[in-house]
Amino acid sequence: MPSFVNPEKCDGCKALDKTACQYICPNDLMTLDKETMKAFNLEPDMCWECYSCVKICPTQAIEVRGYADFCPMGATVSPMRSTDSIMWTVKFRNGMLKRFKFPIRTTPEGQADPAAGYTFDGDINDEILFNEPDCIGTDLFTLGG
Ligand code: SF4
Ligand code: SF4
Repeated sequence: MPSFVNPEKCDGCKALDKTACQYICPNDLMTLDKETMKAFNLEPDMCWECYSCVKICPTQAIEVRGYADFCPMGATVSPMRSTDSIMWTVKFRNGMLKRFKFPIRTTPEGQADPAAGYTFDGDINDEILFNEPDCIGTDLFTLGG
């Protein structure tokens, strides 16, 4: 079942230019009703239930009812992000709650090295990736055949 927004929890991302759910949806489905300042899924049929909006919403206003292959039919699934993990809460139709906590990173927030120790000194338009050929342990002659 596609995402839906609980209007009692949505605060319209406090009138920012673009709401968090609008920013993150890969399908551009989320929109904001400027009068009520509540978001909603504009085209539920197109939602592929990726949970991106559910995970980013700062007020936990968005819910998705997951497929039966990962939670029981009719259960709601809500994530709560922290800096190093996500706590998933599954609420069954009979009200029972189950929680699962998973780590989401191995490097502390803000400390990832985007170049992973490599330095860029080539041509930005080159078809070769900036860390090739060092990262694959071969040389350009071999790469080009
Ligand atoms: S991210 Fe959450 S709080 Fe912000 S507009 Fe979307 S549903 Fe509302
Ligand atoms: S679950 Fe994914 S596809 Fe569906 S509205 Fe949210 S971000 Fe978009």
